[in-house]
Amino acid sequence: MLACNLLSAERTGVFYAKEQRMPVRSIASGKSAAKAAHAFLSAAVEQPGNGYQSTMGRLPREQLEAYVVGRTSPGALQRPRNPVQMREEAERCLHCDCHAPVSCKLRRFATEYGARARVFRNAERPAPGGLQRHGDVIFDSGKCIRCGLCVQITAERHEALGLAFAERGFTMHVAVPFGETLSKALTLCARECVEACPTGALAVESEEERSDNTPNCRHC
Ligand code: SF4
Ligand code: SF4
Repeated sequence: MLACNLLSAERTGVFYAKEQRMPVRSIASGKSAAKAAHAFLSAAVEQPGNGYQSTMGRLPREQLEAYVVGRTSPGALQRPRNPVQMREEAERCLHCDCHAPVSCKLRRFATEYGARARVFRNAERPAPGGLQRHGDVIFDSGKCIRCGLCVQITAERHEALGLAFAERGFTMHVAVPFGETLSKALTLCARECVEACPTGALAVESEEERSDNTPNCRHC
């Protein structure tokens, strides 16, 4: 697509979308191109943010099976074989997007300090886990940066279980003690923990953040 803006120093810009193997990625590519063209055409009026973008990439099968827990049914991982299954496939959503793309401090600092995800593309990383729920509150452990704020808050509010650090070293992570559920961990201060969490790890599902000017992260 060719865009022309007489108020811009560059005057014209070319924006393109790539066809990908997965239709949903082709759509995302088209959406990004349209957003970029819109930003170019309205450059004299507004300066849309261009935040850090992270992407999870392809997960090995066993990690994918763990990742879908709480997000969709395991059957959704099967290749659709008939029109009914194809329709279900088209309508399903892994909810792998982030609920805090606007307020995430990790993203803000990554943008501010010019972090480049490609530098770490071959580094080992912990497997992203499933989604835990407590009513409308969700805990997405893959987005947790182990800052400990929620652990501290649940201790200060004298939650019977609360949240705690499990294991040590590289495998250290935040979890509900004794393998209990999130609803047993957060009985007094769920909202406080969500508000303190610097990333989208603890969030309120129905309060997903969206902003026209801030491109959303494509999962951690
Ligand atoms: S996916 Fe969410 S939590 Fe992760 S960096 Fe992006 S905005 Fe932050
Ligand atoms: S506040 Fe959020 S990022 Fe920090 S340890 Fe808790 S869940 Fe993880």
